[in-house]
Amino acid sequence: MGEPECHSICALIEKLARERVLAKEEYVRLISECSEDMVHKVSAKAKKVAEASFGNKILLRGLLEISNHCRNGCRYCGLRCSNAGVERYRMSREQILERCRYAYRIGLRTFVLQGGEDAVQTDSWIASVVKTLKDEMPDAAVTLSVGERSAEGYRMMREAGADRYLLRHEAADAALYGRIHPVGMSHTHRIECLYELKRLGFQTGTGFMVGVPFQTAENIADDLLFIHRFQPDMIGVGPFIAARGTPFENESNGSLELTLLLIGILRLMFPKAHIPSTTALATLSPEGRLRGILAGANVVMPNISPVEVRGKYSIYDGKAAFGAECGEGISVLKKQLASIGYSVDE
Ligand code: SAH
Repeated sequence: MGEPECHSICALIEKLARERVLAKEEYVRLISECSEDMVHKVSAKAKKVAEASFGNKILLRGLLEISNHCRNGCRYCGLRCSNAGVERYRMSREQILERCRYAYRIGLRTFVLQGGEDAVQTDSWIASVVKTLKDEMPDAAVTLSVGERSAEGYRMMREAGADRYLLRHEAADAALYGRIHPVGMSHTHRIECLYELKRLGFQTGTGFMVGVPFQTAENIADDLLFIHRFQPDMIGVGPFIAARGTPFENESNGSLELTLLLIGILRLMFPKAHIPSTTALATLSPEGRLRGILAGANVVMPNISPVEVRGKYSIYDGKAAFGAECGEGISVLKKQLASIGYSVDE
């Protein structure tokens, strides 16, 4: 960055750190001028903010992919219903229990049950699984991420003891939302779901992909402003990664640098939010996971799915699910974290 350019960009970064929100045009400027130098500046500030909130501790959440059946046809997602190239599976109650017990034994105290909108895993079935988990391991938190469900369904899940819910808004701009989703999926409904989850007392997480086809800097600015209005407890952002068998299979992946910039911007906006360094980031680049942490993320979600289904939850191609990405690899993850001065919060 040249001097005069740095002057105004640096002033914007200072303003963001101070006021925790910018005007739309200011976000657009940061996003469209994203450079390595800017990423370093924002990361350094964001890392300090994360450390003030969480010390040098990283929270682990065990991610269990309970089903890859889905009734939806999201155009970016490898699990879209029309993708015949996917071998479908769904976990049974016993399998879910067994994997959560395993996660508990290796020290994890949050289980994230994620899956497609599987008509067989009904709201009441999910609620009953949650109840069993909470009865058996009351000191563990259960997070759900099973898409758009009815208000009544969410209520059952909450009453069964589910603590948190992740539902990325995907795109704050309704026109962009329409271009990346099939006819019949409603932007309004997705946003309503988020407000309903919050109203029911879930700790709620939202977020979006970076570099999904058709997304502009203005769209991302709108995402940041939506997140500012919504004030979530958790925020997930990861790069878009092309998935075989989808209309976007030949599109380019999202940018590592822009994803890191956005993690940093979100950390400056939300000093206390839980922000994961996502699997998509780790898939995009071998240093992705650690760079996400150095940019202000404070959560890692090791994969605790049964080994035999791990390759099948193929929301995008080449998804990292082994080594430091999974439950069995926690010691590898711990070593990697130690190499950048972090440790796992136990
Ligand atoms: N059915 C659930 C879980 C979806 S998977 C739901 O609708 O919330 C979790 C997240 O993965 C999605 O919200 C989406 O943002 C992300 N995702 C899906 N396809 C992706 C792709 N091709 N590249 C990167 N991220 C993707």
